[in-house]
Amino acid sequence: MIHFVGAGPGDIELITVKGQRLLSEADLVIYAGSLVNPELLKVCKEEAVILDSASMTLEEVIEEMVRGWKKGQKIVRLHTGDPSIYGAIREQMDLLDTYGADYEVVPGVSSFCGAASALKAEYTLPNVSQTVILTRAGGRTPVPEKEELSLLASHGATMVIFLSISLADKVKEELLKGGYALDTPVAIVYKATWPEEKVYRGILEKLPQMIEEHHLTKTALIVVGEFLGDRYERSKLYDPTFTHLFREASK
Ligand code: SAH
Repeated sequence: MIHFVGAGPGDIELITVKGQRLLSEADLVIYAGSLVNPELLKVCKEEAVILDSASMTLEEVIEEMVRGWKKGQKIVRLHTGDPSIYGAIREQMDLLDTYGADYEVVPGVSSFCGAASALKAEYTLPNVSQTVILTRAGGRTPVPEKEELSLLASHGATMVIFLSISLADKVKEELLKGGYALDTPVAIVYKATWPEEKVYRGILEKLPQMIEEHHLTKTALIVVGEFLGDRYERSKLYDPTFTHLFREASK
């Protein structure tokens, strides 16, 4: 069996119990070395074969997996965060299907959740935003035209922008074009939940300077929106005057 496992955002205690058990039982582990915390591999068996996929092609990864699978080995493909977000797992699963190989996906804590914890923030504040847009700026990997940052920005919702730390000028320009004001609060979260985590807060106008000043080149998220500000309304759920399934309003 092949298990695609979400490693979580960095902190080694943020892998799921299931993910850690599978790692400790695996005969073969292929991990995304550019982002996965290698400390997670300490639970692996001494005799486990551990490969870093950073320098491998899709075909090489599949070849290793299929070879192990044919031998009846337990295989873990370890992806950073949650595998469903920019994990490039679909192409792996489709190729595994051509061999009839069995696989499952074990979710993980995505870095956008790790970033919220680093910020001690809530992405969905009443009367501020009830929507979180997870996206990226188009660079070497293009994004569909309908998903240009400027179009997504027109909603004024909470935005979490992956893979775009080297495209700060473009991000700023498109967000402004989409209607965000120059003083919209932004934050950059570098290595959320890792020991070296850093949080930088500012306004959209200064986004490129913030990135330059702190020499940020990778493993960072840009988050944008009024949820980072001070204004919001109380939730209905805990409002004494609001009745719901589990509680009568007090008069
Ligand atoms: N599947 C991953 C995302 C992989 S794409 C997830 O669910 O988080 C890689 C991008 O994710 C990086 O360029 C960066 O933008 C972001 N990222 C991953 N781990 C991060 C972390 N610990 N802190 C901040 N950003 C992170």
